[in-house]
Amino acid sequence: MSDRMSVAAPELTVVVPVFNESGNLRQLVARLVPALACVESFEVIFVDDGSSDDTVEVLRALNEQDPRLRALSFSRNFGKEIAIAAGVDSARGRAAVIMDADLQHPPEAIAQFVAKWREGYQNIYGVRLSRETDSAARRWLTEQFYHLFGACGEIELPKGAGDFRLLDRVALDALKNLRERARFSKGLYAWIGFKSTGVPFEVAERHSGVSKFSYRKLTRFAFDGIVSFTTVPLKVWTYIGMAIAAFALVNAVYYVLETLIWGVSAPGFASLIVSIMFFAGVQLISLGVLGEYIGRVFAEVKGRPLYIVAEKIGAAAPNETSPAKGE
Ligand code: UDP
Ligand code: MG
Repeated sequence: MSDRMSVAAPELTVVVPVFNESGNLRQLVARLVPALACVESFEVIFVDDGSSDDTVEVLRALNEQDPRLRALSFSRNFGKEIAIAAGVDSARGRAAVIMDADLQHPPEAIAQFVAKWREGYQNIYGVRLSRETDSAARRWLTEQFYHLFGACGEIELPKGAGDFRLLDRVALDALKNLRERARFSKGLYAWIGFKSTGVPFEVAERHSGVSKFSYRKLTRFAFDGIVSFTTVPLKVWTYIGMAIAAFALVNAVYYVLETLIWGVSAPGFASLIVSIMFFAGVQLISLGVLGEYIGRVFAEVKGRPLYIVAEKIGAAAPNETSPAKGE
């Protein structure tokens, strides 16, 4: 209790999801702490997403050197999006910056975010000036994804915006109410709204280690993005079905007329097989789409907590000490 009282809320919280980033943490802190001179007081919350290297040991050492550097450690890998949610849950600042640990997000840009925040913006996102640091294939796929997401058009994503951003307390509180499991944070940030603006920044190369996102993970993530923000893939089958049925009807009429005029003809085996296979494929795809949605409904209905914290490093935030709040 006394511990709870003694912890004054800082002006700014920095949330950093970390997964096997021990090679980057010290370098990050060395640049981040001076960059945070632009605020009165700050805390940094590292969310260790079940790292298997010595990330947790490094986080403990950092906390001992500077108690403003706190950390949560998950019991296993839950994914970056959920790590961000955990950081936001325990952030105590009047605003929070979310950034990657690999120094691709330059800490020096935070001063510009804070300046915009002081002007009254509540949802300030960093806009990547280029994607040079990504491979050409990944850039192309990213672009296709944004086209598809835009075409389904239920919310609009600002171009080039990522997770590097500053959210005011009102936006953080709104975000905390969104407890979905399949989290597509970029969509959630856009969905909550508030007074938003972009600040351009140049993406750096990863300081050390490799990207934690394989193409498989990115594909999964793209599905999450589409499926959690639009029901177009569910509904589109009605139209595809109607188009195919209309086509079949026209075909039927044609065959009837053909038989009446030229009589019965036996050939047609190839077209039969091809159409059977084609329509079986179409049906399986539509079932697969249903499966994507039902799978997510199932995951939500189970009502499991979003994440499990195995260890807290550093002083607990007041909202973490109250057991009433479900995570
Ligand atoms: N990350 C995480 N959990 C994961 C994968 C990544 O917390 O399962 C963190 C990672 O440590 C980094 C950030 O998310 O701080 C971005 O990851 P990465 O740099 O590998 O992604 P990329 O820059 O290639 O998109
Ligand atoms: Mg990175």
